[in-house]
Amino acid sequence: MHTKKIAIFRASSRQEKRVPMTPTVAKKLMDLGWTIALQSGAGSDSGFLDTDYGGVHIHEDERVVADGASCALCFGPLTPQQYSFLPKTCAVIGLLGSDRAPEHVHSLPAYSLERLPRTSGAQVMDVLTSQSSLYGYWAVLHGTGRLPRVMPMMMTPSGRLNPAHVLVLGAGVAGLQAIATAQRLGAVVSAFDVRESARGAVESLGAKFYHCSEETVREKMRDKTGERMQGRSESSPGEDQGGYGQRVGTDTLLAQQALIGTLLPKTDLVIATAMVPGQEPPILITHSMVQSMPTGSVIMDLATDRLGAPLGSSGNCAISRRGEEIQLYGVTIVGTSYGMSHMAVDASAMYANNLFAFIQYAWDDHIGGINDDLDWVKPLKLSLA
Ligand code: NAD
Repeated sequence: MHTKKIAIFRASSRQEKRVPMTPTVAKKLMDLGWTIALQSGAGSDSGFLDTDYGGVHIHEDERVVADGASCALCFGPLTPQQYSFLPKTCAVIGLLGSDRAPEHVHSLPAYSLERLPRTSGAQVMDVLTSQSSLYGYWAVLHGTGRLPRVMPMMMTPSGRLNPAHVLVLGAGVAGLQAIATAQRLGAVVSAFDVRESARGAVESLGAKFYHCSEETVREKMRDKTGERMQGRSESSPGEDQGGYGQRVGTDTLLAQQALIGTLLPKTDLVIATAMVPGQEPPILITHSMVQSMPTGSVIMDLATDRLGAPLGSSGNCAISRRGEEIQLYGVTIVGTSYGMSHMAVDASAMYANNLFAFIQYAWDDHIGGINDDLDWVKPLKLSLA
């Protein structure tokens, strides 16, 4: 029988408040025969004290946490020192943000969870979905708190207050949760996406859908020139084979900006989440478009906070920078950073549940490790540098 030990280190960034293991999930794993070692204080920013982790081995020394571990669970990549303390067979599992293992990983098997297929079957382990969904919720509440007005329509003896207008850019997981949250608060909500296939989900939440993709722009140009339509791609307009939004060319981006530009003068809160995996986020709001927004309006730019992006990175608005709150033309532009840390309790709980599901699916007691031959594991494994 192989030893089954999980190691959890304290996050290496002070801004990361989440922990990949909760006391509830630790108990479930221990019931399945796992030993768990946690570095002291790893859960304290998420509200889990060392004493809450009954049965878990708590150590201060990273070397002791790592000793004999078969899995190390994390959010971002571990530090070179942490990697060096782990046994060479230890599986590192987290949001590792690359398709190649960095040199200091040596020969450790590493699994990058953001590469999990986005299918319903794998959703129980889909950390991008669980985290993005909470992010969309938080962004609306945070943005609403900065608005100098109410969200719902109010009929009062002192007069009628009109509802706020919310525009969501990118109707993926974060965007859809933002739409649902803004609707619940009583705002008038619209959403824009490059994927035509997002229409159904947006409209079923009661929001108005706007769409502009390469295909629609080309179709309009063909209509103008009278050219005949060529064969269509197999995916739905604006979508790649994996279901993600497609990167668009300059003409389409300008058409998207023009469309969004017509909506911004009536928009009080923008939640920007438009992203294309592995690419810089598209600039959907230019300087002059910000100038056209009502005084006191707010842009929450979540696209600045993508995996591995340094502080100061750009987002969907030309002005926003990761980790900065900028006031310009009477508009507040928030470039979010470590946004999930604001929801650390629930984000940790969902992430830990996702990891529990992944370990149950992928760990093979007979081989004493992760089974690399499984369909949903293959794409996750990092190749060595
Ligand atoms: P993401 O974070 O990569 O992007 C967010 C949104 O930005 C996407 O909807 C994308 O289409 C949009 N976008 C990209 N470029 C844009 C542009 N120029 N203008 C406007 N919008 C733009 O996306 P995500 O939230 O990670 O979701 C990715 C895909 O995975 C979606 O199709 C989603 O429905 C799918 N998904 C499926 C499941 C499942 O269980 N079946 C679960 C989660 C996600």
